[in-house]
Amino acid sequence: MTEKRVRVRFAPSPTGPLHIGGVRTALYNYLFAKKHGGDFILRIEDTDQARYVPGAEEYIFEALTWVGLTFDEGVHIGGACAPYRQSERKSIYKQYAEALLQNGHAYYAFDTPGELEAIRKKQESQKQTFQYGPLTRGSMKNSLTLPAEDVKKKLDSGEAFVIRIKIPDNEDVVVNDLIRGVVSVQSNQLDDKVLFKSNGLPTYHLANVVDDYLMKISHVIRGEEWLPSAPLHVLLYKYLGWENDMPQFAHLPLLLKPDGNGKLSKRDGDRLGFPVFPLQWEDTVSKEVSSGYRESGYIPEAVVNLLAFLGWNPGTEQELFSMEELIQSFSIDRINKSGAKFDAEKAKWYNHRYLIKKTDEELLELFFPMLIKKGICSTDDYIQKVISIVRERVNFVHELWDQAHFFFIAPESYDEKAVKEKWKENSPAILTELADRFKNLTEFTAGIIHNAVQEFLKEKQLGMGQVMNALRLTIVGSSAGPDMFKMLDLLGMEETIRRIERAINTIKK
Ligand code: GLU
Repeated sequence: MTEKRVRVRFAPSPTGPLHIGGVRTALYNYLFAKKHGGDFILRIEDTDQARYVPGAEEYIFEALTWVGLTFDEGVHIGGACAPYRQSERKSIYKQYAEALLQNGHAYYAFDTPGELEAIRKKQESQKQTFQYGPLTRGSMKNSLTLPAEDVKKKLDSGEAFVIRIKIPDNEDVVVNDLIRGVVSVQSNQLDDKVLFKSNGLPTYHLANVVDDYLMKISHVIRGEEWLPSAPLHVLLYKYLGWENDMPQFAHLPLLLKPDGNGKLSKRDGDRLGFPVFPLQWEDTVSKEVSSGYRESGYIPEAVVNLLAFLGWNPGTEQELFSMEELIQSFSIDRINKSGAKFDAEKAKWYNHRYLIKKTDEELLELFFPMLIKKGICSTDDYIQKVISIVRERVNFVHELWDQAHFFFIAPESYDEKAVKEKWKENSPAILTELADRFKNLTEFTAGIIHNAVQEFLKEKQLGMGQVMNALRLTIVGSSAGPDMFKMLDLLGMEETIRRIERAINTIKK
């Protein structure tokens, strides 16, 4: 038998912004497809019209494009199995629901939502949960309990119905999962899920299985939250006569909150101090804005790398992987079974590592718009030099400003705590003398300034801290900042002297 061509799909429902875990699912599908020279398909599962959110499909596409995932077939590019949007495939599904009715693996049910609700409530009051299935269907209003002519009458008169799968009695349904191994479920625990509704639309389960079959999907790689649906899907493949074409399943471990307590959910929004969405999203109804990785300053390559490691590891010490390297190293065998805790600090670390891979010139381009907004006017050469001094200290481009604003604007005030701790009675006298030394230097470069300061300390019998702490305060306005000598070199002698004099005149203890 020839090996089946690898074809995988990412099949989101456009019910809102894509969760970062959804991006991970898409990424793993992409890596698997590319590793095996296969196809990566984007299918939009929009049969649940009540949950449809305008703009969500565009958002999903923009987010995946931003992280660098490209599709071989899909809603936006077409392909041999088009259309790829389920709402445009409406006419396809009915025949399969009918085939199941005919072969006795499905039936019509006429119970109204009100009736179902009443039974549910009644069961709940007895501390039981109602399940429409092998044990209860015999007492409900369906084509298994009603006389055939009543069923016909109801259908002819246009009464609302659903088509439910008929789950078998007492059967072990086995799902062979590439990550979890053999998962066996007793069929009595399953319910007769709705497959098709009288509005002419299939539910997720039927549409998903039919499309995976028709699109020749070889592997279904999706989040663990779909594992409970897998036995039903296995039964559908069997009842539709497609058992030999059933894809292989791989259910990915959950993404957990940083403390490991529960799933990282869309509702977590910005509550945990990091975004749960790839791109910023404004809720269509509440207008509430949730932050995105892109807008928070993350580099797409860093997001890819950090997502790859949330649930998978290469089995080596290497932590930084380009997309190409991920494709080479990726394998389903190395996906963990247990949930992956999101680590916000690690996420920042990845961004830092990707940020410092950029040249000063590239960083200048990213930083420049921010400087313009701040009204800063400077030369490219100066800005690049500033960047080269502070780049190691930041995780995000916008942090360049926090680390470097004093290269562009002289301090207007001085941090109180730093003044208290670092500004001594003799500081003005020491700094005045030091400034005089600086004025006499023929060249003002980091090395020369360093030597001049060393000599000054020796002569005056002063410690490094006594001079440098106060000097830093005059230049930066606080006790933070990068290497002093590089900083003075870049600011130049005149500006250095100006700042020292200004601090001496301003700081009052
Ligand atoms: N439409 C489902 C979702 O929103 C797809 C699940 C699957 O991949 O089968 O996640």
